[in-house]
Amino acid sequence: MTSSFQPWHMMEAKLIQVIHEIPGVATYDFELEDTPTPYQFAPGQFNMLYVPGVGEAAISLSGMTGTVLHHTIREAGNVTHDIARCQPGSTFGLRGPFGSLWPMAACAGNDLILAAGGIGLAPVRPVIYEVVKNPETYGKLTVLHGARTASGLLYTRQYADWRQAGIAVETIVDHADNTWFGQVGVITQLLNRCTIQRPSDTILMTCGPEIMMHFVAKTALARGIPAQQIYVSLERHMNCAIGLCGHCQLGPTFVCKDGPVYRYDQIAPFMKVEGL
Ligand SMILES: Cc1cc2nc3c(=O)[nH]c(=O)nc-3n(C[C@H](O)[C@H](O)[C@H](O)COP(=O)(O)OP(=O)(O)OC[C@H]3O[C@@H](n4cnc5c(N)ncnc54)[C@H](O)[C@@H]3O)c2cc1C
Repeated sequence: MTSSFQPWHMMEAKLIQVIHEIPGVATYDFELEDTPTPYQFAPGQFNMLYVPGVGEAAISLSGMTGTVLHHTIREAGNVTHDIARCQPGSTFGLRGPFGSLWPMAACAGNDLILAAGGIGLAPVRPVIYEVVKNPETYGKLTVLHGARTASGLLYTRQYADWRQAGIAVETIVDHADNTWFGQVGVITQLLNRCTIQRPSDTILMTCGPEIMMHFVAKTALARGIPAQQIYVSLERHMNCAIGLCGHCQLGPTFVCKDGPVYRYDQIAPFMKVEGL
């Protein structure tokens, strides 16, 4: 975010490509038409995507290639259903980037574990790109990805490239069909099995259903990763994205500006409170 960042400034975003990922989920590539300054984001941040006449939704950046912004979106309700019906050439409004960052500076020299459930792999994909781009900065990266079924595993077309870059990619599904020959179970099993050579120099980032992140964090603690080195990315319904409207309040924080990425030890007491 630059110092001239204007949170209410709605940029025009042109849809240039749609990649169908898994049922109900696609990656949408946007080019910005009228940026006051070159658009930049950091891993973990999100944009507010506006469909004229329908509304806005918070969507994480799942990457950026040159000037092209990637958003991986699951059809959930009004805005996302509408986006899914749009063709390349359609234009949208876009505000951002907003929110806190995955701790890339703190990751330097450390081993990294990403634990992502379902579409939770989208907000952590920029971390993978950053490690691929600057491998000398970071230790070993392990990506653990779980989904309900094999057809829910995201970005499978990229795993070979990531493995080629030295990243360990492990997948697991809750339910196997007759096309699946991999591991069956929950993501904490992957975390329990993976080699953690130096837990005190390992940073774990997790994104997915909140109950999954809770158990991932618990397992990580049991494996010796300190609580201050565990980060979660939380979702709450939000409107303004700048901490004014109060929709996304979580305890003493607003997910839109204090999150979505939180240090686990700081947010854990509020994650546990039903309805907060
Ligand atoms: C920081 C952040 C990053 C996100 N990143 C992504 C991403 O990368 N990709 C992605 O697909 N999604 C992402 N989301 C989730 C996305 O913002 C929501 O799914 C959003 O609600 C979709 O908007 P919609 O209008 O399509 O659906 P909505 O109309 O908002 O409906 C979505 C679902 O939420 C329910 N709902 C609506 N309002 C409320 C409410 N006030 N309280 C409880 N439930 C409600 C609806 O019944 C429906 O089941 C992110 C959310 C946050 C906060």
